[in-house]
Amino acid sequence: MSISSAATSRALAIAVALAWPAASALAKDAAPGTYGRNPAGLAAHLDRLVAAYPDTIQGYDDTHLVLRDGTRFAIDDGREDKSFDELLDLPDIGDMFAFVYPADADAAQPPVDFDPGRVRVEGLFKALYGDCEKGDLTGRMSRVDWVPGHGGKPVWVATAQGVDRALKAVSAELDALPASFGKFLAPSSGTYNCRPIAGTNRMSMHSYGVAIDINTDFSDYWRWTKPGADGLYPWKNRIPPEVVAIFEKHGFIWGGRWYHYDTMHFEYRPDLLAAAD
Ligand SMILES: [Zn+2]
Repeated sequence: MSISSAATSRALAIAVALAWPAASALAKDAAPGTYGRNPAGLAAHLDRLVAAYPDTIQGYDDTHLVLRDGTRFAIDDGREDKSFDELLDLPDIGDMFAFVYPADADAAQPPVDFDPGRVRVEGLFKALYGDCEKGDLTGRMSRVDWVPGHGGKPVWVATAQGVDRALKAVSAELDALPASFGKFLAPSSGTYNCRPIAGTNRMSMHSYGVAIDINTDFSDYWRWTKPGADGLYPWKNRIPPEVVAIFEKHGFIWGGRWYHYDTMHFEYRPDLLAAAD
C-alpha cells in the first residue's frame, strides 16, 4: 500500500469512527464501543496522578506508570473499542481520565454514562492502600472523629496517602457550618468496608478505607431509582453545595457528579482534583 492510499484509508477510518456515535445513538447497546482512546491532556493527568501519591508512585515513562517498588501499569492497552462496561472492568491507566471531574461546577444532571472517578485500575489502588481480602489494611487505619460538633461518631479510614489527615480537615470545616447542615453529615453511613461495588465484581473504594458515605436519609442513589420511559436514570440530589465544596477542597470527589449517582459517597481522589490548584 502506498503512503497516499494508506493516508486515504486512515482518513476514511477516522470519518467512519466519527460518524459512529451519531449513527449509534438510538441503539447504544448494540453499537461497537468507542471508549479506550487516550484522553486529551494525558501527560497533565499523569503528572497529577504522580503528584497525588508520591509515597507510592515514582513516575511514568512512554508506556507505563511506574511505582517505587518497580510495579508497572500500562498507560495504554491499545484498545479504542471498549464498551462502557469494559471501560469500568478493563481500564488502563489512561482510561481513568476518560471523564474530567467537574470540580467546583454547579451540581446538575450529568450526561449519560459520565462517571468521572468510577474508572479505576484496581491494581493501582491495591498498591496505594493494600488488599483488604488479604488483610493488608490491618494496622493501617486511623480513627477520625467525624463531625463531633454535629453529633457525629468516630470513623476509621486509611492512613496511607494521608487520607486520615484529609478527612480530619474536611470534618473540621464541616463542623464550622451551621447546625442545619448536621442532618446531612451524621450519622455517617460508613467508611471502611471490604466488599465489591453492588452488582459488580469490582472492589468498592470503601474496601481501601478511602471513602465515606454521609447520612443515607438525605441521599440519592441511582440503584434506588427506576429508569424513566427513555431508559435513562433521572438525577436527584439533596446534598448542599457547601458540603461538596469542602470535600473537594481536601481531595475528595463526590458521587453526586456521576450519571450513576451516589450522593452520599465521597472518596479520596486527589489525582482528579489537583487541576483546580
Ligand atoms: Zn460509598
